[in-house]
Amino acid sequence: MMREELVFGPIFSRRLGSSLGINVLPEKGKICNFDCIYCECGWNKDGRGDTRLPVAAELREALAAKLTESLEEGTPIDSITFSGDGEPTLNPDFPQMVGDVIRLRDLYYPSVKVSVLTNATRLGRKEVFDALRKVDNPILKLDAVTTADAKKINRPQGRYSTDAVIRNMEKFKGDFVLQTMFLRSPDFDSADTVGEWMDIVRSLRPREVMVYTIDRETPAQGLQKYTAEQMRELVLPLIEEGFNIQIKG
Ligand code: SF4
Repeated sequence: MMREELVFGPIFSRRLGSSLGINVLPEKGKICNFDCIYCECGWNKDGRGDTRLPVAAELREALAAKLTESLEEGTPIDSITFSGDGEPTLNPDFPQMVGDVIRLRDLYYPSVKVSVLTNATRLGRKEVFDALRKVDNPILKLDAVTTADAKKINRPQGRYSTDAVIRNMEKFKGDFVLQTMFLRSPDFDSADTVGEWMDIVRSLRPREVMVYTIDRETPAQGLQKYTAEQMRELVLPLIEEGFNIQIKG
C-alpha cells in the first residue's frame, strides 16, 4: 500500500522525467469515491485509519520549502503531479491548491508542467472543472464505457454514470489527457469493449491518450494484465488515425 507525504519525491520516470508528487489526501489513509479493483492504495475500507485532509496553507508551505531546497541543491524538476492516496478533487481546498501550486511553479521552476490525475467523477463541479482547466495536464480516467462495467472495475461509491462523465469530458474540447486501464478480471475484459471505447475517444479527441495496465499488487485477486504489444494491437486503429497514444505495459 502506498502512503505518501503531502509533497514527495522527486521520483524519476522516463515519461515525466524528474517528478514531484503532491498527495492532498491523508498521509496514512486513502479517500476515494471509487474503490477500483486494481487500486495501488488498496481497498477504501483498509485506508480509513487516517482521515485528516491537509489544507491549502500546509501545501503552500511544504511545496515552497521543497522547491527552495531543490533550487539550492540544483535538483532538476520537470513536473509536479497531484497523485496521492485517493481522489485529489475530494479535498475541499483542491481548487485553491491548484492555484497555489501554479503560482509557486511560476516563481521557482517556470518551465515545470503541472499535472493532475483524477477519476473524473467531479468534473460537474464548476470549481473543480475550472481548476483542472488551469493545469498543463488534466489526466482524466475512463476505464469503462458503461456504468455497469464501471461498477465492476471502479466500484463507484454513490451515484455514477459514464454518460455524465463523458459529457463533462466534452467540455474540455479535447484539451486533456485521457487515461484508461486495460485489464482482465473474472467478469470483465477491456478487449470486449475496446471498439466502443475507441468511438468515445474519437468523439472526445483528447490531445493524448494514456493506456496502461496493472503494475503492482492489486487488492482484488485474479486480475490479469495486458502486455504492451497486446494493448498496441487493440488500439492500433486509433494510432493509424493519428491519435497520440502512450502505452505503458
Ligand atoms: S480512482 Fe484511483 S485512487 Fe481511487 S480507487 Fe481508483 S485507482 Fe484508487
